[in-house]
Amino acid sequence: MPVSEFSLIDRYLATQGLSRSDVALGIGDDCALLLPPTGQHLVVTMDTLVADVHFFAATDPAGLGHKALAVNLSDLAAMGATPAWATLALTLPAADENWLGRFCRGLFALADRHGVQLVGGDTTHGPTTVITIQAHGFIPPGLALRRDGAKPGDGIYVTGTPGDAGLALAAACGKTTVVAEYRDYIRRRLEWPEPRIAQGLALRGIASAAIDISDGLAQDLGHILERSRVGARLEVERLPLSPALAASLDRDAALMFALASGDDYELCFTVPPERTVQLEALVTDWDCCCTRIGVITAEPGLRLIRADGSDFRLERLGYDHFG
Ligand code: ADP
Ligand code: MG
Repeated sequence: MPVSEFSLIDRYLATQGLSRSDVALGIGDDCALLLPPTGQHLVVTMDTLVADVHFFAATDPAGLGHKALAVNLSDLAAMGATPAWATLALTLPAADENWLGRFCRGLFALADRHGVQLVGGDTTHGPTTVITIQAHGFIPPGLALRRDGAKPGDGIYVTGTPGDAGLALAAACGKTTVVAEYRDYIRRRLEWPEPRIAQGLALRGIASAAIDISDGLAQDLGHILERSRVGARLEVERLPLSPALAASLDRDAALMFALASGDDYELCFTVPPERTVQLEALVTDWDCCCTRIGVITAEPGLRLIRADGSDFRLERLGYDHFG
């Protein structure tokens, strides 16, 4: 018997255990009724995953549920926001209960971990799987980590080890091979990215600008430079390469991945010199590494420099859907 849209919603999407006190009415009515905290900005973001564009149709649905939310939480992290609610628009080619059950398990596991409640959405039938999540969070006015606050002299930092997700994708497409012992690690980095929520919150009042790396470090740092009307000197040899990336490619190719491959969902941020000591104290508590990779300059443009002072040439800045 074919399942109806309504029973799918009841059986799967409305089953999250978490219920927040600021949700007066969640899934089940025409709209959700939410109570944002007085005096705080409501922070809103949206991201879409399209089958065959952002993921392979055969991808583990639990991973997709995780990633669809993770990429949104990563945007909230890059703003320094506290996550709160999410809505989900699902377009599915078939009412596959097994798929939806696993999708929800991945989605709710991450949502529960960050105290995020799914409060509504829309479910439609269509030719290909499209997953859109809108995430909502809060931040006190004046504390958001925007892209336009970087100043000459600020240090440039990155969390984690960029390039891993790009390596996983290149390997999945048969363009490169990954050393056997690192294959699981690399796949996890692509399919189960960990949004840097704790780091974003800790950087309130410390970072002068921040962005999450979805389209490649060089390109996303470029957005900070543009919006802040500054330039940067990036010392490529300081880039933190994971053992997996370092072991799978020669050094220049690995640096290229760290600079230009997408889907990492790490944070890239800038910190004024007078707050460096505060930052150094903070990062000791983090569950990921944090590396200083360069400095903001008054001269516009992004300069990539090797340890010997020569220029590092990058063939392509990062990912562009229409490029
Ligand atoms: P309407 O037709 O009034 O838009 P729907 O029948 O689409 O209502 O949805 C019924 C309820 O289920 C609503 O509260 C809606 O927010 C929720 N809902 C529908 N699809 C989803 C989904 N994919 N994820 C979460 N909630 C959903
Ligand atoms: Mg609807």
